[in-house]
Amino acid sequence: MNTSVRKGLSFARRMHVPRSVGMGIGFFAVAAALYPSHPPIWVWVVMVLHGYGWPHLAYLLAKLSKQPYKAERRNLMYDSLAGGFWAGAMGLSPLASVTALSMMAMNNIAAGGPRLFLLGSVAQVVGGLVAYGIFVPELFPDISQIQIYACLPMLVIYPMAIGLVCYRVAVKLSKSKKALEKLSTTDSLTGLMNHGAWKDLLRVEFSNCQTIKRQNSVALIDIDHFKTINDTYGHIIGDNVLKQLSGALTASLRETDLAGRYGGDEFCVILPDTTLAQANDILERLRRTVHDHAHTALPDLRLSLSIGIAAYGPHLTDAGMWLHEADMALYAAKSTGRNRVNSAPPGMRACGSLAFE
Ligand code: GH3
Ligand code: MG
Repeated sequence: MNTSVRKGLSFARRMHVPRSVGMGIGFFAVAAALYPSHPPIWVWVVMVLHGYGWPHLAYLLAKLSKQPYKAERRNLMYDSLAGGFWAGAMGLSPLASVTALSMMAMNNIAAGGPRLFLLGSVAQVVGGLVAYGIFVPELFPDISQIQIYACLPMLVIYPMAIGLVCYRVAVKLSKSKKALEKLSTTDSLTGLMNHGAWKDLLRVEFSNCQTIKRQNSVALIDIDHFKTINDTYGHIIGDNVLKQLSGALTASLRETDLAGRYGGDEFCVILPDTTLAQANDILERLRRTVHDHAHTALPDLRLSLSIGIAAYGPHLTDAGMWLHEADMALYAAKSTGRNRVNSAPPGMRACGSLAFE
């Protein structure tokens, strides 16, 4: 089922409840207003069918349609046409007509904004003129006590039904927004933070270090000869290695540490309230665990990591410079033999900062 059909069906489902409620209780308001003019029997039959059959027929029509969204909008137009018809038949009886027409207008605005409201208003006028042509009723008849009571359920219950539908839509939208936000900040392969989200946090942590003098460290972790792993075992195994490493990384860190996938075979971590020596211990443990791990299905597959660490220092002018120090430390780990953790010397001057956008 394609997205527009699914959305259309959900729209029709959403409209089914308020339509059933509105038509069901609206019946009494119209019946009370029409009764004094003693309409013919066919009018009562149409009124009952419209009040209690139409909401379900409308839903069925939308469900069976190839374009449920369009079908449901058509249903809303029929609603307005019928609303106008009954208002005309009642001779625009002030309370019942205003109640029915304004409730329908509210429904149209909630479902389709000003455009649907305008189209609905036109349909109401057309419906009213048709009814006037058929019945030629007395205009603006007096309102009896019973008509007032017959309108009250509609005035009280129908807005609540519409409010409930709007509330449900708002909750659904809020959930979708949260899911989208999560998707846009998550690396789809590993489930870790993605590059952009991690860098945003690095900026925040950098400013925390500057303002509240926190002692944070940052680490860049790169798999050694990962290209050879892909070339030897294939990209699916390569992907699994990346997933397993992200699991091992998360397991070796504290809840407060912020791990991400920097890109390719490179991972990144911010370690809040962690000195260079402490960060070194944490990452050395990770390096050893990964190095000692033997894959049961692929015993020849061994992994090693090169890791660069840099601690925050007052000499750093921006987060990019901090990252650059970690990158330089990683580069040194690679060039001095790989499979090692290397720390940037405290206060080392990075010759530049990584492009940070
Ligand atoms: P070094 O020891 O210097 O780090 O060498 P390396 O082979 O690990 O590094 P290089 O940058 O040459 O290769 C990284 C490889 O990672 C190349 C790229 O095809 C692979 N890669 C990047 N993203 C993915 C991914 O999502 N899945 C898989 N399977 N491979 C990826
Ligand atoms: Mg690598």
